[in-house]
Amino acid sequence: MKIEYGHSILEHQLPKDRKILIVVAEPLYEQIHSLLHDHDAHLVLPPSMEESELETFAGQLPPGEWVLGIGGGVCMDAAKYIAWKNSLVLWQAPSIVSVDAAVTETIGIRREGIVRYIGTIWPERVLVDIDLIQSAPKHINRAGSGDILSIHTALYDWKLAAEITGEPYYPEVAGQSKQLLERISRASSDIYNVTSAGIKELMNLYVAEVDLCQQMGNSRPEEGSEHFWAYHVEYLTGQSYIHGELVALGILLMSALQENELPRIKAMIDSLGIRYRPEDLRLSHKTLIDSLVGAKTFVQNHDLPFSILHHLSIDEKEAERLIECIYEL
Ligand SMILES: [Zn+2]
Repeated sequence: MKIEYGHSILEHQLPKDRKILIVVAEPLYEQIHSLLHDHDAHLVLPPSMEESELETFAGQLPPGEWVLGIGGGVCMDAAKYIAWKNSLVLWQAPSIVSVDAAVTETIGIRREGIVRYIGTIWPERVLVDIDLIQSAPKHINRAGSGDILSIHTALYDWKLAAEITGEPYYPEVAGQSKQLLERISRASSDIYNVTSAGIKELMNLYVAEVDLCQQMGNSRPEEGSEHFWAYHVEYLTGQSYIHGELVALGILLMSALQENELPRIKAMIDSLGIRYRPEDLRLSHKTLIDSLVGAKTFVQNHDLPFSILHHLSIDEKEAERLIECIYEL
């Protein structure tokens, strides 16, 4: 996988003599259409991420030599799915640094509303167009830090799983993962301001994190109860959220539950400018309570890896306490 950064890199790097199938996010459709008007490109909007719909969608597409995803996480995953299913070469061009999907090989889809990872495909090239990314609302790019900050709660869960279930735990990998938290902290002002240095560091952090997960063969170094809780919210509401914002709220709630340095991680989230307040995310108090109280049943029913949510039960009183914690500091 080759990651290239540049200004207006899309127009310059895409060859004109190749057929390209482009999965593009709806708000960018017109912009990309006129940008690539002299390329042999066929633009499509991503369908829903439900596996059955994706399968039908991929089967009906015109033949292309390559697939290029341009957009956020949904476009990256839809492009991966199409390239994997139709055996095409994959390129990715994230329009926001909102999730690590552009630099991962796993394909995240939904099966009856639940996130599942099926198949793997690496992008041959990742084109990071600085201008395109900087043209997105800042809060969306800042939210990208959520998938690095989740290391904080994920490492706690991994260690807990090792103590209780005997799952293998590698302190060296955990230590390297922790270093990524220190790196993001040092880059916080660049990431907050979405400078080109901030964009690059966030992409580099994703790559480093994905590498650690590769070594482990699972997502223990970065995914734990904060993600599982977020999946539960999506399951309950059927809504989609800016991933890093929902995960950031999950990190705060789970840090409170884990009694795991809540003030420190909250200060980091604030300095990176990630939105997490339930009112910003349009999450009702009832959804918050239900998502916490029902979390244990959800993680058990869906066979998610062991975490604090398996270990502790949350009643309504405890859920209220956790929610209060995020407002207190
Ligand atoms: Zn994530």
